[in-house]
Amino acid sequence: IYMISLKAVSKKFNTKQGQIVAVDGVNLDIKKGEIFGIIGYSGAGKSTLIRLLNGLEKPTGGKIIVNGQEITSISEAKLRQVRQKVSMIFQHFNLLWSRTVAENIAFPLEIAGVPKDKRADRVNELIELVGLEGRGDYYPSQLSGGQKQRVGIARALANRPEVLLCDEATSALDPETTDSILDLLISINEKLGLTIVLITHEMQVIQKICNRVAVMEAGHVVEEGDVLEVFQNPKQPITKRFVSQVSEKGQAEQTIQRLVELYPNGKLIKLVFVGEQTEQPILSKLIKQFDLEVNIVQGNISHTKSGAFGTLILQLEGNSSAIEDAIHFIHEQKVLTEVISND
Ligand code: ADP
Repeated sequence: IYMISLKAVSKKFNTKQGQIVAVDGVNLDIKKGEIFGIIGYSGAGKSTLIRLLNGLEKPTGGKIIVNGQEITSISEAKLRQVRQKVSMIFQHFNLLWSRTVAENIAFPLEIAGVPKDKRADRVNELIELVGLEGRGDYYPSQLSGGQKQRVGIARALANRPEVLLCDEATSALDPETTDSILDLLISINEKLGLTIVLITHEMQVIQKICNRVAVMEAGHVVEEGDVLEVFQNPKQPITKRFVSQVSEKGQAEQTIQRLVELYPNGKLIKLVFVGEQTEQPILSKLIKQFDLEVNIVQGNISHTKSGAFGTLILQLEGNSSAIEDAIHFIHEQKVLTEVISND
């Protein structure tokens, strides 16, 4: 039932500065058909681990078993066979820039010696699978980031692998595109029963698509289990840090909701000071010129010689057209403005 097992796997690098232990005695079992996430901050050893799974690096200790085959001490020829079943997508897509979408996707088929007519059929199938219909003749430079990653995914699937390794595959994408790529990975996992192993530093990615997760720190897996269990009851400080990352974001949204409930009158408006201006002249103008009642609902501002940094949430009450004029005035200031509410 295990697609991948790591038994006391270590990887040490000898450098001029001395020995670096990138991966240190890692034990992991990844089940067939699951989406397994490895999360950790930069330098934790994630890339090294994924390169070990791919056979790109050899461990300096321990054993790696992929699909029942021990890959740490086999011949190059055997390793190549195993590697055909394991493919990878990358943060920066690693596409061939001088080749079209279709040619990129066909590349691994070419290398595997698939005849030309069969290649074309398979490429069309893959283009449809990843939602790139009509883009076969485009060059990578003519595609958005999300589309480039779709090409990367199609190419990785060309030779029908059993494992897809994802190396920070959405880290170069904006949040919406990230979501659509993660949705695609979920559907591929369901449709093809493919085992997916991904490394990331983003909790959202883990929470959205992974069944199980391992938390890595300084070459070790410090915590591991079902995603819900690990993050509902984090034991290690580092896991708690990842949890607080997302809950802070959720908290900010909650706080705003609460503020709207607490200050139902007038308008709530958020000002973000970016260092070019202070809040005082704005506040006095709102009060004196627009004749508004101004409540500072929340404020966290620090001052420098040239201006201020920080956020203010104001409640503006008064004549509604005066409020509108005031907001218009604020928009012209060197602050970022967001109208939160109300009526
Ligand atoms: P992550 O992917 O979590 O950021 P890495 O696996 O890239 O972590 O790196 C883990 C540690 O191993 C780091 O200290 C890194 O500098 C070191 N390292 C990785 N690859 C090499 C290498 N080829 N030679 C020397 N040190 C390396």
